[in-house]
Amino acid sequence: MAADREVVLTTCPRDCYDACGIRVVKRNGAITAVRGDPAHAVARGWLCPKCATGYNGSWRDETKRLTRPLRRSGKKGSGSFTPVTWDAALDEVALRLKQTVAATGAHTVLNTHYSGTMSLLGYHFPMRFFNRLGATEVDPDTICNKAGHVALEYVYGTSTDGFDPRTAKDAACILVWGANPSTSAPHAHRHWLAEAPGQVIVVDPIRTPTAEKAALHLQPFPGSDAALAFALMHVIHRERLVDDEFVHAHTVGWEDLAPLLTECTPEWGESVTGVPADQIVAAARIYGRGPSLLWLGQGLQRQRTGGNVMRACALLPAITGNLGKPGAGFLYLNGGANRRIDEGYVMGSRVGGARPPSISQMEMADHLEDPKRSQALMCWNINIAASNPQQKRLHKALEREDLFTVVVDVFPTDTTDFADIILPAASFLEFDDLVVSYFNLTVGAQVKATEPMGECLPNTEIFRRLAMKMDFTEPELHESDADVIETVLREAQIGEDFRSLATKGTVFFSSEPVIQFAGLEFPTPSGRVEMASARAEADGFPRVPHPTADARPANNALRLLSPASSWLMNDSFANDPGVAKRLGPVRVSLHPADAAARGLAEGDEVVLSNDTGRLSMKVSLSDAIPRGVAVSPKGRWPKLEETDGNVNRLNPGEQSDMGRSTAVHGVEVMIARLDHSRGPGEKSAPTL
Ligand code: SF4
Repeated sequence: MAADREVVLTTCPRDCYDACGIRVVKRNGAITAVRGDPAHAVARGWLCPKCATGYNGSWRDETKRLTRPLRRSGKKGSGSFTPVTWDAALDEVALRLKQTVAATGAHTVLNTHYSGTMSLLGYHFPMRFFNRLGATEVDPDTICNKAGHVALEYVYGTSTDGFDPRTAKDAACILVWGANPSTSAPHAHRHWLAEAPGQVIVVDPIRTPTAEKAALHLQPFPGSDAALAFALMHVIHRERLVDDEFVHAHTVGWEDLAPLLTECTPEWGESVTGVPADQIVAAARIYGRGPSLLWLGQGLQRQRTGGNVMRACALLPAITGNLGKPGAGFLYLNGGANRRIDEGYVMGSRVGGARPPSISQMEMADHLEDPKRSQALMCWNINIAASNPQQKRLHKALEREDLFTVVVDVFPTDTTDFADIILPAASFLEFDDLVVSYFNLTVGAQVKATEPMGECLPNTEIFRRLAMKMDFTEPELHESDADVIETVLREAQIGEDFRSLATKGTVFFSSEPVIQFAGLEFPTPSGRVEMASARAEADGFPRVPHPTADARPANNALRLLSPASSWLMNDSFANDPGVAKRLGPVRVSLHPADAAARGLAEGDEVVLSNDTGRLSMKVSLSDAIPRGVAVSPKGRWPKLEETDGNVNRLNPGEQSDMGRSTAVHGVEVMIARLDHSRGPGEKSAPTL
């Protein structure tokens, strides 16, 4: 290797199942390319197109980044700011927080954050500060997957102890339900699923590229998944594929569940879900014979009854005995605990005293409109002005002059435009951290490849400095990144310190695949799989999940799905010029028959509307979309759109049945041709 050439191994920390290994190529000390690591077991030498574009574009472009602390100098939302020093910025934040705590209480400081970066410290460490402060946390998972977590905890006592993907070599079937790996786990789609010896079954309302490659694709109408799960269980029961021995020894509640299966024939399932009865029978046979893996996706539970859906689907491994053996199990997410990583330590769970109850992301607009409930707002790792529901109301609330708003980000987002103080965050290329994949049982090093751009600082250092300004003296708030990383690695017992891990990039937690629930002990009150749950009942839910489906849209409305785009990662990348070019104008995909019924053709401009808002976009025709459904992916930035809004303009923020979590896939809209006589864009949309 030439003396001026250097390669740094690091790991992608995006909110993605894959956690790719990356090679950062440097010449004369400057980064010249960010590529996939050919030696990395998952990446195999390539990054997804959005990261390959963004990491070699806007992420390293000083003109696109925030590089200095900024203080607002214009009207809120105008994006007018003046540079200030770190000291001046943090002095002001500390003063305003102290004044707020003294005047109205720490609970009137809202702390909102999520998955802008998923590296271990960047994601968790700032919570030490907020726990000490006693701020009200806006429960991060309620924007995404909380209903699923709550549901799985009822059934299995945990939602974060999933199968080891390496065990796929022993699986006769992989059932992917409500996940779209072709977009959200591109390497799992291209390598893991493609190379799995077992048959792949996909359940998804949309015929995604993953569904297209599957042996069997079941296409239920959104919101009918619980009914489909019961129809599958009916067939499994009828064909004597229930593992009686397992059910008897390791579950509770079969006597409550079995009577519910009687009526749930495949023909009933077809009538409720739209999935042909013969496909239900075929899928039940393949899954029931096993060994089978069940991948429960996040999209599955973003529904009005998403908790019930997840509980119902989660019964499949239990009744078929697909647990505790090679090639069997389920996965929602793999948490750090199954690699002996104590996330509670990193986030400082024991720091501070009593904390106010958290609120849901679905309630954000309500709280921000009310000065009694919110005097200060701290946003980090999140772009709420793009990602949250009730977008118009939320933007209006963020204009409140008496709301002191601080935003920590890598880029000038829609949310930073509403800030009083902006604090520039370092990107993953600019500081050391760890990446704990939530799919593969790996630990990766995120290695500093270059100095932070401008005056940017890692999240950890920002909150250490702010703790100092607040006169918070707890040692946990001032622990160095290096110390936290070494503690985590030592406790994980993977035989690596950061220096050695950095030379390897990523290591597996164990040399052999881990068997999920190998001891067949479950952290539920009974120690068994709780098909019937007294805890759920005590919380006001049915004792067992029910074979129900959400009502279908009436009066010519369509169900609006806003899944991930393959060119966006939540709200990251939309500001990258290369990505924006590939994204093109905002579109809604419709089944050709639904479009024809409305007199619409490819490329027509339409308005989507409901009681929450209205938004114009262009029509795309696709027979991959079922009838009655409209699809427009999430993640665009409102301020970069002609309509000054994204698909969350249409999201009322309805909560699912469990966890106060989003029911975004339950949104319904009317669609009509845009009336140009009333001018362009959202504001001039016709009354429907
Ligand atoms: S977002 Fe996912 S697929 Fe893309 S580079 Fe990162 S880990 Fe890999």
